[in-house]
Amino acid sequence: MARTSFFIDTTRCTGCRGCQAACKQWNQNPGTKTLQRGTYQNPPDLSAATFKLVRFSEAAGSSGEPGWYFFPDQCRHCIYPPCKMAADKKAKGAVTLDARTRAVIFNPAVKISPEDFREIREICPFDIPRYDEKLGIMAKCTMCFDRVSEGLLPACVKSCPTGAMQFGDRKAIRKMAEKRLDEVKKTYRRASLINPEAVKVIFLVKDYPEKYHQFAGGDREKGIAKNMALENLPHPGTRVGDVIG
Ligand code: SF4
Ligand code: SF4
Ligand code: SF4
Repeated sequence: MARTSFFIDTTRCTGCRGCQAACKQWNQNPGTKTLQRGTYQNPPDLSAATFKLVRFSEAAGSSGEPGWYFFPDQCRHCIYPPCKMAADKKAKGAVTLDARTRAVIFNPAVKISPEDFREIREICPFDIPRYDEKLGIMAKCTMCFDRVSEGLLPACVKSCPTGAMQFGDRKAIRKMAEKRLDEVKKTYRRASLINPEAVKVIFLVKDYPEKYHQFAGGDREKGIAKNMALENLPHPGTRVGDVIG
């Protein structure tokens, strides 16, 4: 299967949460009891039962005008996933790369202690891993590898009514992202793609990533996936397919 990636164009996101609901439905994750907390964002955070969360931030734009900053958050399926590097030292097999899609998968058959989970979560630049305390397992977006293996689109992409989410061949997706960035930059000079070299889920934002969410751009102090990759270059004799997503 050709290498695949997502392109999430937040400038086309209306915050409808269709992707969030479709993700719950496909993964048969239970609903989360919600509460009015003075924001349209619900539930408040990702969890072991919420793999996709549309974050709602209100912030002033580049000219000071108030605006919404919608961010359909999910695992970035890093090319060299730091979570896997950490898990390999703690609980071998807890994080794997799907052979066909190269999705980064948390294996529910491998139990993780709360202490080891904390370390794995902290190493993720995007703060994605979550923990099911009852089952002692980690959970997050699966890239819908079961659908993708059968030639279907990920459920979230399929459900998006505005075209904000795209999925397909990585080269074509990167080209699409660069082209759209050029268009968006004509209006929003701070627009950028977030870490397109290092992740398989490429976000386009019209403003500084931190305006969307604290971890939207990756926590630099924890070291972005690419930096970790450089520290963990494969030694001669390692099959490229063993490490590259
Ligand atoms: Fe792992 Fe976090 Fe990268 Fe997802 S975003 S592959 S959980 S390091
Ligand atoms: Fe959820 Fe699948 Fe989309 Fe991941 S790819 S966020 S599991 S619907
Ligand atoms: Fe945004 Fe599309 Fe998700 Fe709606 S379905 S919240 S438009 S990404």
